[in-house]
Amino acid sequence: DAPRSPQYGTGERIFGIETEYGVSMTGGERRIDARQVAATMFLPVVAQARSTNTYLRNGARLYLDVGSHPEYATAETRDPFDALEQDLAGESVIRGLALQAQERIRAKVGEHATVHVFKNNVDSAGHAFGCHENYLVRRYVPLPVIERELLSFLITRQLFSGAGRVTDHGFELSQRADYLDEAVSSATTRARPMVNTRDEPHADPDQFRRLHVIIGDSNRSQFVTFMKLATTHLVLGVIESSVRTGRASGFQACTLADPNLANRAISRDITGRTAVRLASDRGEGNAAWHPEGSASALDIQQHYLDIVRKAVTADPDSVCGTLPRTDVSRVLDDWQELLDLIAANDVAALADRLDWAAKYRLLSALSRHGRRIDQWRAQQLDMDYHDIVNGSVYPALVRRGMMRVLVSEQDVGRAVDRPPADTRAAMRGQFVREAMWRGARYSCDWTRLTLSEPVHGEVVMLDPFDAGPSPAFEEVLARLEKSASQA
Ligand code: ATP
Ligand code: MG
Ligand code: MG
Repeated sequence: DAPRSPQYGTGERIFGIETEYGVSMTGGERRIDARQVAATMFLPVVAQARSTNTYLRNGARLYLDVGSHPEYATAETRDPFDALEQDLAGESVIRGLALQAQERIRAKVGEHATVHVFKNNVDSAGHAFGCHENYLVRRYVPLPVIERELLSFLITRQLFSGAGRVTDHGFELSQRADYLDEAVSSATTRARPMVNTRDEPHADPDQFRRLHVIIGDSNRSQFVTFMKLATTHLVLGVIESSVRTGRASGFQACTLADPNLANRAISRDITGRTAVRLASDRGEGNAAWHPEGSASALDIQQHYLDIVRKAVTADPDSVCGTLPRTDVSRVLDDWQELLDLIAANDVAALADRLDWAAKYRLLSALSRHGRRIDQWRAQQLDMDYHDIVNGSVYPALVRRGMMRVLVSEQDVGRAVDRPPADTRAAMRGQFVREAMWRGARYSCDWTRLTLSEPVHGEVVMLDPFDAGPSPAFEEVLARLEKSASQA
């Protein structure tokens, strides 16, 4: 039996973000389909790792499943800010691969060939792909509680986390609202759930769950990536402590009658005012909150924020001490400011930090200049915003100071090179670096490091909070070093 993690009874969290990218190519004398572009991007990966599925020296996983969507899954982090840095490191790695692929492709089909890599969630043919957030939660939190208490938060947070999308029926907050159905499900591909309950904790299953959130959009806004993780963490913290103490969190008041319907309705209303139906069985006492049985997305978000703020005020140490880099009271103030600006319909003020608002402002500016914007033009702009390789819209916003940037280029570069220091990713990253450097054969998964040539060795890491170095880890590195000095 694995010993209890020192973090088991605390409010500390592990975060990870998986981002799938969409790939395409334009220009060139001959068409190259997305699948081939993706395969070309992975040539250097296969040359190095002999596989399209590998772990990197910063502890992240980079892979290409069948098809054409490269995926980057960040290393485990303890702070939303570290997760943001690691996700940006992923953008940087993917961009590097795309630029190399573009060179190769240009050599074949001419210098006008342009590779596009979209950090979004729907391609031009209407196929959806994902951005999954991963949160470690304690095993004692039953899944139905998460469904009942977290789902309304996840559905209404699109008010600030939605990446925005131009659709046939107008502008929507979320990229994915039209592509999700069952609220909670154990399959991700056939049914498209909002929260995946497949029980793969990538950790000691007696202590931990990994909550796998499917409902979120991929974000270009650094502010949003950070805020969606930070606020979700705080809500989860309240849920965990309510289960632990047996006292109701107060979130049940927000349970939705029909999560799918609500998700779509909220996505289509940038004012946050559309009323959605609440469940009739919200529990004793809760029916007093919006007794008429419906509430707006803004009301629901405010309810979550009020409860979280109360919990932070009541017990600042145990809540604020859980994040090593993040100022929790600042998160709460920023969250409130977002809700106030949305309530005031102040899209202009939101446009420097929210993806949907930035896009909305650009589209409005186009139409103000008297040009009728047709659907095609609007969709071009929408796609360009997400193109991390050859897009021009987003970098221009950043250059002009119209989009908040939280992480410097230098820090992104550092995150490409180095794993987070305070999770098991530290051991994984060092293992990969040393094994690569010595030309050893190795493989990893989230809980295991395996050395297969020239010597054998294995490290099991069931506690994601444990940054080591564990005795098994030191043993494997020593073996690797010894074999290298003998060779
Ligand atoms: P799929 O790609 O089919 O969704 P998967 O969800 O198992 O499979 P990966 O793509 O391998 O996942 O990504 C796993 C993510 O979960 C990574 O970002 C990783 O950092 C994070 N993670 C790993 N262990 C934990 C944990 N115990 N708690 C929370 N997050 C974790
Ligand atoms: Mg994945
Ligand atoms: Mg996943």
